[in-house]
Amino acid sequence: MVKLHEICALISDHYPEKCAEEWDNPGLQLGRDDAEIARVLVALELTHPVIAEAIQTQAQLILTHHPFIFKPLKSVSTRTPEGSMLLDLAEHHIALVAAHTNLDAAPGAIAQKLAQDLGMHNTTPFLPATPYDACKIVVFVPEPHAEQVAAAMHEAGAGCVGNYSDVSFRASGTGYFTCGSETHPAIGKPGSAETVDEQRIEMVVSSRYLGRVIRALRASHPYEEPAFDVFRLSSEVHGISDLYGFGTIGKLPAPVKLADLLNTIKTVWELPHLRYAGDPESSVSRVAILNGSGGRYISKCSGKADVLITGDCGHHDFDNARRMGIALVDAGHYGTEKFIPQIMADMLRQSAYGDQLDIRVAQSMQNPMTEI
Ligand SMILES: [Zn+2]
Repeated sequence: MVKLHEICALISDHYPEKCAEEWDNPGLQLGRDDAEIARVLVALELTHPVIAEAIQTQAQLILTHHPFIFKPLKSVSTRTPEGSMLLDLAEHHIALVAAHTNLDAAPGAIAQKLAQDLGMHNTTPFLPATPYDACKIVVFVPEPHAEQVAAAMHEAGAGCVGNYSDVSFRASGTGYFTCGSETHPAIGKPGSAETVDEQRIEMVVSSRYLGRVIRALRASHPYEEPAFDVFRLSSEVHGISDLYGFGTIGKLPAPVKLADLLNTIKTVWELPHLRYAGDPESSVSRVAILNGSGGRYISKCSGKADVLITGDCGHHDFDNARRMGIALVDAGHYGTEKFIPQIMADMLRQSAYGDQLDIRVAQSMQNPMTEI
């Protein structure tokens, strides 16, 4: 039998929570770490029908894309729909876990699936490098404290290169300093010159996590004034920006009319409707896709893509697209994300725990919005 914390660790390996947006709340939402899990129900989000299906199929875990607990809850009671739903889960011993923007950003997940469906090639993340530049942080730590500082920096998000985590380079040397008369040094005395055996620890870090890595470094370092340097790197030389990022951008196998692309999208993603801005007779070949809600990123397509396919677009998104001469296709938030539960289910089935788990995609999953 697999424990809940083991499944959470597996999900983090594939969809590192370090790669989630800072505002997000992925991971374990409800459950006991040592709960034994045999049946998993996977859904886009938690709904009453999904809970009923989990109870009926005796699932011990619901894995969703959208986190159910997003903002702090003031209470968990039957006085709110959210409280009632959480109580239903707790009373039936059903745990709840979410993989949200950490899944969006992971290589080989939803962005790759959507790009493959359209036959795109030469794809890279649509929103990779900015505002998430690759940086290198170098810190000098007294030998006995090197492990604790490195561990704290890794925990805060430093040292991820492609699919490798906890990556660092270390070298030994000697640190020299003279303590000022007002100091409270961890090593040495105020007013004296000191030499200390130190390690130089280097790690790459996305600028997204730089602030919290520096806070972790300061909190774990024994010195009152830790010495560290931060360098901004060219994004081409590092795997950080190349692999992790939101959405995808690349080329179609051959240029097509926008009208033909719209028909392809409707067919392959089984969409009864979609909305778009642009000339249906125009030729498009460079395509950006952003699952979920991405109309506000139309300006990022300038000079890079002829069309942005996303969901949740509003009037002003279409107006901006028209002004920029870039086609904008609203295939729906649900339309671009309904495949995610299958992706998560396949990941679990192909994992080391695949043989021990009964994994189902919820049959009760539904678009909350009805189109007529
Ligand atoms: Zn979404």
